[in-house]
Amino acid sequence: MRKSLFRHAVVLTALGAPVWTLAWQGSDPIPGFSASRAASQRTLEARLVAELDTETTGRFFRYLTEEPHPAGSERNYQLAEYTRDRFIEYGLENVDLRRYDVYLPFPRSVSVRMTRPVEYQASLKEDGYPVDKDSYASEVGITYVGMSASGDVTGPLVYAHSGNPEDYDWLESQGIDPRGKIAIVRYSVPYSYRGFKAWEAERRGVKALIIYSDPMEDGYRKGDVFPDGPWGPESHIQRGAISYDFIVPGDPLTPGWASVEGARRIPIEEARSAPRVMAVAMSWRDAKPLLENLGGPVAPHDWQGGLPITYHVGPGAAEVQVQVDMDDQVRPIWVVTGEVRGSREPNRRVVLGNHRDAWVYGGVDPSSGSATLLDLARVLGKMAREGQRPDRTLTLASWDAEEMHLTGSTEWGEELAESLAEETIAYLNVDSSTSGPDFTAVAVASLSPALVSVLRDVRDPNTRGSVLDAWRRLETVEEDVDLVDNELGSGSDYTVFLNYLGIPVVDMTFDGPYGVYHSQYDNYYWMTHFGDPGFRYMTTMAEVWGRLALRLANAEVYPFDFALYADRVDGFLAALEGQPGVAGNLDLSAAKEAVAVWSREAVQLNQAIESEMTRQDGGAGQEATAPGRFREVNELLLQAEKAFLLEDGIPGRPWFKHVLYAPRFTYAAMSLPGVQEAVDERDWERARSQLALLTERFQRMSEILRQAATSLR
Ligand SMILES: [Zn+2]
Repeated sequence: MRKSLFRHAVVLTALGAPVWTLAWQGSDPIPGFSASRAASQRTLEARLVAELDTETTGRFFRYLTEEPHPAGSERNYQLAEYTRDRFIEYGLENVDLRRYDVYLPFPRSVSVRMTRPVEYQASLKEDGYPVDKDSYASEVGITYVGMSASGDVTGPLVYAHSGNPEDYDWLESQGIDPRGKIAIVRYSVPYSYRGFKAWEAERRGVKALIIYSDPMEDGYRKGDVFPDGPWGPESHIQRGAISYDFIVPGDPLTPGWASVEGARRIPIEEARSAPRVMAVAMSWRDAKPLLENLGGPVAPHDWQGGLPITYHVGPGAAEVQVQVDMDDQVRPIWVVTGEVRGSREPNRRVVLGNHRDAWVYGGVDPSSGSATLLDLARVLGKMAREGQRPDRTLTLASWDAEEMHLTGSTEWGEELAESLAEETIAYLNVDSSTSGPDFTAVAVASLSPALVSVLRDVRDPNTRGSVLDAWRRLETVEEDVDLVDNELGSGSDYTVFLNYLGIPVVDMTFDGPYGVYHSQYDNYYWMTHFGDPGFRYMTTMAEVWGRLALRLANAEVYPFDFALYADRVDGFLAALEGQPGVAGNLDLSAAKEAVAVWSREAVQLNQAIESEMTRQDGGAGQEATAPGRFREVNELLLQAEKAFLLEDGIPGRPWFKHVLYAPRFTYAAMSLPGVQEAVDERDWERARSQLALLTERFQRMSEILRQAATSLR
């Protein structure tokens, strides 16, 4: 259906009258483009849309999900070669397969056994189903938690709900000391990073941590389970890593520099991102006998899960032995990149990235995104070969070992830091492109309007309206730009670009009911029956991603809205001001005044750009867009986000250099992290000095914007 519509558009375009496309897209202005250039940009984008294909996307997806391909596996190396070969075949330039040797332990054995009051061995395995051949595969391997410590411990079992600080506080208030015990906790919804559970368990002196998937969160309490529905069946296991990459991501042995040949490596004992606690993931079916044998008090009401039992917190009769044996090896990982070289400004680039490594087959996470990337590479390569090359360079990247500690993107960013910081306009991340039809995105606020303008022009496969309209129906907001979440945490490959290099980022996905995350059921069968039958949303993501990249690459002036950004930061300050203890201890007036100045400068710059565009459109037609008229503005805007970097980083986490954002240990977003963490600790002196640094950064931003506006006079 969609495909034949594409064909229709090609015919019209070939006749020189892309009527259908233009009628659909309207003639809204495109941020950063004059009216005349916007029209030719839309014609170019119509070509992109016409060439993207659900069938080729589906073929890529089939190939990528054929076998398990975790980081460090032979298969994931083959997929790196496959991606490189496709990039070359499609005519991308400077195609590169880059190796990093990183700490990437595999398991030798993992076991969980109840020794009292009954003998019971957890299977730690997932069932096969006749309809899905992949669910029978033998090559899935040992189920394990990435970066678990090794050991063999036995102890009484306690149930600690989600394993958050307040959960342990409650246990302790009941006289239950988790120290020296085995803790069983459940995965959390909304998502909270499992590494945070490990961090907290380690801090509390827990000997080993068992994390299980309760049916309340992602199983039969949500709806039909695999293979009848999208939710997790009784034996599904959410794998995952517990690296402390909220302290420093990337290879734990090279914190802050690249794991290239001959690089200095610290001993693993000194690595701040390496957990010291053992952890095992299991299904609810495996966990149920453990939970049933817990004694002690009845767990609080909101700790009760979806199983037909009364949850107790222990300790009681249940004693458990946990054995984990990891091989502590360094292994090669592979980052693939390729470029569509810009015709006018090849040294200015937009980077588009997706990780390739999966926990098992990686249907949603990440092969939906990898299939999207490959089809986009095919089309952009074809357009370039036929002379439709963007003004600036597009770099396409296939990362590795994201699932372990955001490793590939981090090492690459650290290795090429200097040129990336100088040349990169924005980084556009797509991890999983599709688990359903609901678009969602996080981005720095300066890029929200550019993203929204793209979504207004992209047709949603289900509703036939725009993706923007479909998104608006899901959320209550005043303005379209409010749909974009401007509070950035972590959990995917944009981290090095934003937090370490100061490059503006966007991270996008189509969401849906998805209960098989990081299990072997996140595979081809799941995707083609529940997530994205017909590959329409994977292809739609290629359209969103491609259009946004081409707009950034072809804009006369970079479409950053720093007035909106100032408004958002003003909101961060207001939220800070409302926190207990802040009034009387922290004077925010200078910071707020600095943001007000920044806002005024940004509004003036936006007006100056707009009147320059209007002048050109009203003047001698297209040719009046004098190349170079915006060059100085662009060079200033390119560096603007870097005004937010602190050379020494935020206190205690020197790798995280951005003053506005850092991940909480849960991966959730934290705004103004340097000040916020000091406020959380009631360290008012540090809060004041961090606030002074922040205010300086705002003043620097105002200066850049003022210079940019001046250059247009
Ligand atoms: Zn992923």
